[in-house]
Amino acid sequence: MIMDKITGSKDLTVLALKIKEAGTIAISGHVNPDGDCVGACLGLYTYLRENYPEKTVDVYLEPINPKYTFLKYAPDIIHQEAAEAAGIPEFSYDLYFCMDCSEPERLGFARDYFENASFKVCIDHHITNKGFGDLMFIRPGESSTSEVLFSLMDYKKISMDCAEALYLGIVHDTGVFRHSNTTRKTMETAGALLDKGIRQEMIIDDTFFRKTYVQNQILGRALLESILVMDGYVIFSVISRKDMVFYGVDSSDLDGIVDQLRVTAGVECALLLYELEEQVYKVSMRSNSVIDVSKIALYFGGGGHKKAAGCTMSGKARDVINSITALIESQKLDLDREG
Ligand code: AMP
Ligand code: MN
Ligand code: MN
Repeated sequence: MIMDKITGSKDLTVLALKIKEAGTIAISGHVNPDGDCVGACLGLYTYLRENYPEKTVDVYLEPINPKYTFLKYAPDIIHQEAAEAAGIPEFSYDLYFCMDCSEPERLGFARDYFENASFKVCIDHHITNKGFGDLMFIRPGESSTSEVLFSLMDYKKISMDCAEALYLGIVHDTGVFRHSNTTRKTMETAGALLDKGIRQEMIIDDTFFRKTYVQNQILGRALLESILVMDGYVIFSVISRKDMVFYGVDSSDLDGIVDQLRVTAGVECALLLYELEEQVYKVSMRSNSVIDVSKIALYFGGGGHKKAAGCTMSGKARDVINSITALIESQKLDLDREG
């Protein structure tokens, strides 16, 4: 096993060699794919398709939000039904890329194909990723998997279409260069991608800021019903299944709600719960400075980053909130004690 330490070219050489040797290559990312996951998967797919036309390259993902379908190769994504119809689960790829995914379980339907592959590469930036696969590039200090991927590519071989995918990933995981994960290297990467002639304004406006009417309605509802607890240290909001049916929205329409809760003045942590099925909640957590929400998410079987993490929890919404705030309280007490 070779773990990337961002130290030098040795691992990159191994990666280049593995690509060269492989006849069949598959790519996939986490369930409920976000902008970084889609950007990294399609960025790599574009790069391999365009520079290694002799190879078979397949990309598997759950259905993606229509706002990402401007990416050139989005129509090539293979979804579960098509994969199963083609008998893919029995197929063994020479090389498999697992993108933006902190553990194999989060690959969803593509997990079987991953397990069957001869050589597995993990490219990620989640602090909760303990490492899996045969070759790993896991860099928690980087903004996005798309940023990690950029540094593994030969710049000359990055086309405009590939650059648009990588830029999309960086824009989404940094909240358009606003989050603290935005470093000098992130900006330099973005700059290098701009040099490829990408449609930066369209990518930012149409995929990040633009909201449909119902997305704005559910955002408004979540803000209106948000509640401050722990003397304003934590804010939370709960979206029930019933609300989602009423507004006709799905989980991808809820992007950005927790980020809006986070910027409430005086708040350290923001929590958004939405009901996946009766009394089962997807929990999104954000923090502004000191609380490490990845530890809380990990405790409940999820994962993520210090300031953005998530998990799935069962029970009444009130009990879920109480369990999480108890852990926030205990981290806060420890921090207060440390001075
Ligand atoms: P979200 O709140 O869904 O936007 O997720 C915030 C961050 O936490 C992202 O980097 C996700 O990949 C990660 N994350 C969310 N849910 C989970 C989970 N159940 N397991 C592991 N990581 C998660
Ligand atoms: Mn992601
Ligand atoms: Mn990411």
